[in-house]
Amino acid sequence: GSMSIEDAFKEELAKHNIANEVKLVRTGCFGLCEAGPIVIVYPEGAFYSRIEAKDIPRITEEHLLKGRIVTDLLFKEAVVEDQVRSINEVDFYKKQQRVALRLCGVIDPEEITEYIAFDGYKALGKVLTEMSREDVIETIKKSGLRGRGGGGFPTGLKWEFTYRAQGDQKYVACNADEGDPGAFMDRSVLEGDPHSLIEAMAIAGYAVGANQGYVYVRAEYPIAVNRLQIAIGQAKEYGLLGKNIFGTGFDFDLEIRLGAGAFVCGEETALLNSIEGKRGMPRPRPPFPAIKGLWEKPTLLNNVETYANISQIILKGAEWFAGIGTEKSKGTKVFALGGKINNTGLLEIPMGTTLREVIFEIGGGIPDGKAFKAVQTGGPSGGCITADYLDTPIDYDNLIALGSMMGSGGMIVMDEDNCMVDIARFFLDFTVDESCGKCPPCRIGTKRMLEILDKITEGKGELADIDKLERLAENIKVSSLCGLGQTAPNPVLSTIKYFRDEYEAHVVEKR
Ligand code: SF4
Repeated sequence: GSMSIEDAFKEELAKHNIANEVKLVRTGCFGLCEAGPIVIVYPEGAFYSRIEAKDIPRITEEHLLKGRIVTDLLFKEAVVEDQVRSINEVDFYKKQQRVALRLCGVIDPEEITEYIAFDGYKALGKVLTEMSREDVIETIKKSGLRGRGGGGFPTGLKWEFTYRAQGDQKYVACNADEGDPGAFMDRSVLEGDPHSLIEAMAIAGYAVGANQGYVYVRAEYPIAVNRLQIAIGQAKEYGLLGKNIFGTGFDFDLEIRLGAGAFVCGEETALLNSIEGKRGMPRPRPPFPAIKGLWEKPTLLNNVETYANISQIILKGAEWFAGIGTEKSKGTKVFALGGKINNTGLLEIPMGTTLREVIFEIGGGIPDGKAFKAVQTGGPSGGCITADYLDTPIDYDNLIALGSMMGSGGMIVMDEDNCMVDIARFFLDFTVDESCGKCPPCRIGTKRMLEILDKITEGKGELADIDKLERLAENIKVSSLCGLGQTAPNPVLSTIKYFRDEYEAHVVEKR
């Protein structure tokens, strides 16, 4: 409904002759999907939620013309004891720290001047005029930034490997394939702040010695693709992409490649195959893309969120970034919060924030007074974490120790009514469907696991089937070729670990 709201505002502003005094900005997502469509009026930061076109005349007449905030249209948590709280004081936002998302929901993503007004392309200018390639890599290394796409590999090291690799031609690529069910972090950056990606890829190109970049984005994200296309066109127009950027002799160009919706193409080597126009199937590693990537040339591949941090690290310094987060996981992380939770949405928190803070303070707890049961992190590759671990600080290592993983940032909350066997079956069904079929452990093994799970959920299983599932899962994890197969059994293993009684109940009860 956002478009009708924009139209209604245009009409009202024209009617009251204030179109030149009030700037109407169409932004990307501001994160709190639960309350959308939203309208934020500055300078007060008044946070109107669930707005419809019929509300616009009142907001215009009362707030814009008379300076009186229309409290009954504000987000419910924005009014406490008759006091109006600005957007930054609302529980959903006050524990957040927005680095990757800093401009999402703030600027018009289709207008490069708005990005520039917030120091956009200043980091690229700094890098090209004041820093050597080695300085840039050293800064990223010192910041402690780790890949936000799943594995958490140190970003600076990846940049260094590509920089040191021998090759007459090098490439920079971006993984914007985001195929996890329930994940929309990268989409939000592309829709809300596409220039941050372009700027970071140009910086990466300079650092590793590449003059060509590719963004691999799923075709199911039409708004993201469109805004990225507009942003690339504007960056070229402003001389920020193309030949001789800032008159420094550095050339860098960027192209978009559309993915056709195969989850496996989020795996780095499958993604590179797909960019080359081949079938999207993983290649054995080593050689890693830093040595042999696109067209067998050294290639740097990071995901959207990783790139979205780069300009801020360059401008504010490695120490600033390394000062956020935990000892081994620096900075912030974006999560897509969904499932049985009051505040569905997109949030960015410093690493080290606990799961309890995310679910009960930022997320507003479980709807209808139900009890929290588990949270699934890491999408289909992750695992379920129970109430016993709610005080765990979120970072790469802690989540792995709990049998789950950071993944790209999907976080799905389950309440007392969810059957954990069904949840495991849902995710496994997804990975069986998405297996590319190249290697037998994943192609055949996950299918057999699904059959056993079907047997259990239909009440035809035996206790021995649970042990069989575990054995098969462990074998698939160690023998599959790529990350998809290696992590596909995680939801099953973690639910057996923490909710074995539910598996046993299926076997016993349904006899
Ligand atoms: Fe394909 Fe699965 Fe093997 Fe990966 S693990 S190569 S997705 S069959």
